[in-house]
Amino acid sequence: MAQLSYMKFDILTIFPHILDSYVNESIIGRARTRALVEVNFRDIREYTFDKHRTVDDSPYGGGPGMILKIEPIFKCLVDLMGSEEIEDRVRKHESRSSNQGSRIVLLSPQGELLTQQKALELTNSKHLVLICGRYEGIDARIKNFIDEEISIGQYVLSGGELPAMVVVEAVTRLLPGVLGSADSLIVESYTLVENEVGLHSGHVVEYPQYTRPEVLEPISGVTWRVPEVLLSGDHKEILKWRKEHITKI
Ligand code: SAM
Repeated sequence: MAQLSYMKFDILTIFPHILDSYVNESIIGRARTRALVEVNFRDIREYTFDKHRTVDDSPYGGGPGMILKIEPIFKCLVDLMGSEEIEDRVRKHESRSSNQGSRIVLLSPQGELLTQQKALELTNSKHLVLICGRYEGIDARIKNFIDEEISIGQYVLSGGELPAMVVVEAVTRLLPGVLGSADSLIVESYTLVENEVGLHSGHVVEYPQYTRPEVLEPISGVTWRVPEVLLSGDHKEILKWRKEHITKI
């Protein structure tokens, strides 16, 4: 039986309820219930210091849109991780040495592209802090205390909340004990593994899968059948077919 894991995600956002239902359902919801992961939303607005709870301001040098201010995010991180750790982190950034412990990630279209390999690497952290930008982005001085920037693709969304959730889900399903069947991870697209049944190694796109019914007639005169070999019960032939239908990329 696989050893169970525990991982904590803190998501810093100005919309702390935008993903409430998502984290309560399905795999993430179950992993939370089973205390395999903790997912918290931190409202950046709670760390503002004016009566209007201002989180943004116009960019120096002019230009369109607004920029998220850095102080509320900084205060939120101090609250979350303690002033000592944040101070240490800022000093380490100055001296360019690496940080230990919690990993602070800024979601950004300019960041490193999230891949299955990257998600696997993130499982090595026990605490991921995900900062969601909004508007035109965040004051660039944020780079003085984050560990990295991650992009979920070469397109621009309105905020970092969906990208943060993509990271949470991609990482969570890789944690020991989260998925019902660990085999789901052995034969999965973009997974860099030597499969125990020798189906593949390297980056691949998974073979096609089918379930009941065996024969489907979507419209009259058209019949869609499940490939015969998958119904044969011949394990060797099924493996051979699957191997042939894996796409190497
Ligand atoms: N002005 C920025 C630019 O051109 O790169 C785009 C800002 S975007 C409207 C607002 C926020 O959404 C970003 O700060 C980031 O947190 C998030 N975001 C948008 N697209 C993203 C992507 N592809 N991956 C990760 N985060 C993204």
